[in-house]
Amino acid sequence: MKRFFSRQPRRLVIVGGGSAAFAAALKVSELGAETVLVNDGLPIGGTCVNVGCVPSKTLIRAAEAHHRAGHSRFAGIRSHSEGPDFGAVIAEKRELVEELRRAKYLDVVADLPGFRRIEGRARLVDAGHVAVNGETLAADRVLIATGAAPRIPAIPGLAEAGYLTNESAFELEELPESLIVLGGRYVALESAQMFARFGVEVTVLQRSPRILPEETSDLTDALTGYLEDEGIEVVTGVAVGRISRNGGEVEVEAEVEGAARAFRASQILAATGRGPNTRDLGLREAGVEVDAGGFVVVDDTLRTSVAGVYAAGDVIGGPMYVYTAAYEGALAAENAFAESAPHERDYTALPWVIFTDPQVAGVGLDERQAADRGLEVDVAVLPLAHVPRSLAARDTRGFVKLIRETASDRLLGARILASEGSELLMELSLAIRHGLTAGELASAFHPYLTLGEAVKLAAISFGKRIEKLSCCAA
Ligand SMILES: Cc1cc2nc3c(=O)[nH]c(=O)nc-3n(C[C@H](O)[C@H](O)[C@H](O)COP(=O)(O)OP(=O)(O)OC[C@H]3O[C@@H](n4cnc5c(N)ncnc54)[C@H](O)[C@@H]3O)c2cc1C
Repeated sequence: MKRFFSRQPRRLVIVGGGSAAFAAALKVSELGAETVLVNDGLPIGGTCVNVGCVPSKTLIRAAEAHHRAGHSRFAGIRSHSEGPDFGAVIAEKRELVEELRRAKYLDVVADLPGFRRIEGRARLVDAGHVAVNGETLAADRVLIATGAAPRIPAIPGLAEAGYLTNESAFELEELPESLIVLGGRYVALESAQMFARFGVEVTVLQRSPRILPEETSDLTDALTGYLEDEGIEVVTGVAVGRISRNGGEVEVEAEVEGAARAFRASQILAATGRGPNTRDLGLREAGVEVDAGGFVVVDDTLRTSVAGVYAAGDVIGGPMYVYTAAYEGALAAENAFAESAPHERDYTALPWVIFTDPQVAGVGLDERQAADRGLEVDVAVLPLAHVPRSLAARDTRGFVKLIRETASDRLLGARILASEGSELLMELSLAIRHGLTAGELASAFHPYLTLGEAVKLAAISFGKRIEKLSCCAA
């Protein structure tokens, strides 16, 4: 549908300089209006490029290269990797971060018409003004895009003992001998496996009874097993009491299933969730509603409780990914300038990935969520031991699970646990978005031996026993 944009208002002031902010600035420029972007704290580009997606994923790949060299899956292939030169790995990571920060953030706004960038701590004064560095910027619209930061649990002794977060762990020059990871969600698990694969002795301490507690236990139990196979100690149901440092060692005193236990390591990584950057932002004073966790409350058009003030990205909570932050930034900017009815965000069939190995990938509903909504569903679980690609690669860890509505055969969701399993996700996301049935997936050609065959085989397995099929199942 064609949208109409007002010649007035003309200026968006964006507080924050991450992915949501940049997407908003580009959209505003397309609409022929002006942007002032104010960033402070993290370098320009925010979390993803500096201390999130980019550093974590390149370090995960480096750790994987080292691990695979020493753990061949083929009897006839013997290889090894000498102890990693972690300093060189970190230097290479820094180069990549700098390169992407320049290419994907600084360069894209360098010649952007009507764009001004300010470095400084911004504070919302009211719907029409933002204060920074002693200057008060006039704004027709304001976008709060200040992101989130590690949320540090209030554990006695933690601050004194010292801890790493994603902002410091990917900057270490030397590997710690051992590491306790507090947390059991994606940042915790990706980091735990990455450090373990570099040779660090890693213990994961998770408060809930399972890692990734939002996922079903078939998936989390299997992943726990794979992490343990690599020597990572995964302890769940942990209530941490106190933390202390004694010289080069930290000690975590905890209760696990009613029994007192102590865990020791040279470093602690706090990966216990992320909280919004809303402190000292002037939101409450300006009347912008925040929830109990401090996240900015928005409606589906990304308007806050104050007319003219929008918010996008991690600071509003919800799905906290870089691609959702960018989507929200652009949508908020568009809505801020649209004369016609604002558009609502749409997270139908939102795909997501956890970059452990095997990866965890999901889209749509799992069987528990479907049941909560009163939907009658069937579930097909295809172990990768049935997938020729996985057999050929001698890596059959994991499964593909599809969830379909029983009556209509329509695909409602998928969960994947597989090496490179994220590559399967977009077929499933599009299938859900466009209302495809499991039968339609089953009847589509999937080249032999691709991992994609796992999707086809899983879809077929709603009606047939996979063991009884020949090659290139039909
Ligand atoms: C370890 C880790 C790995 C991740 N990996 C992935 C991944 O693989 N894929 C993925 O999609 N997502 C990943 N994410 C999530 C992703 O990084 C975030 O969802 C995304 O970067 C959020 O963007 P944003 O624009 O909302 O906020 P941010 O990128 O955090 O930007 C906000 C900016 O505003 C600044 N700021 C804060 N307060 C003020 C103020 N008062 N004045 C001025 N500036 C201020 C901040 O310092 C920051 O520079 C990862 C996150 C982490 C922590």
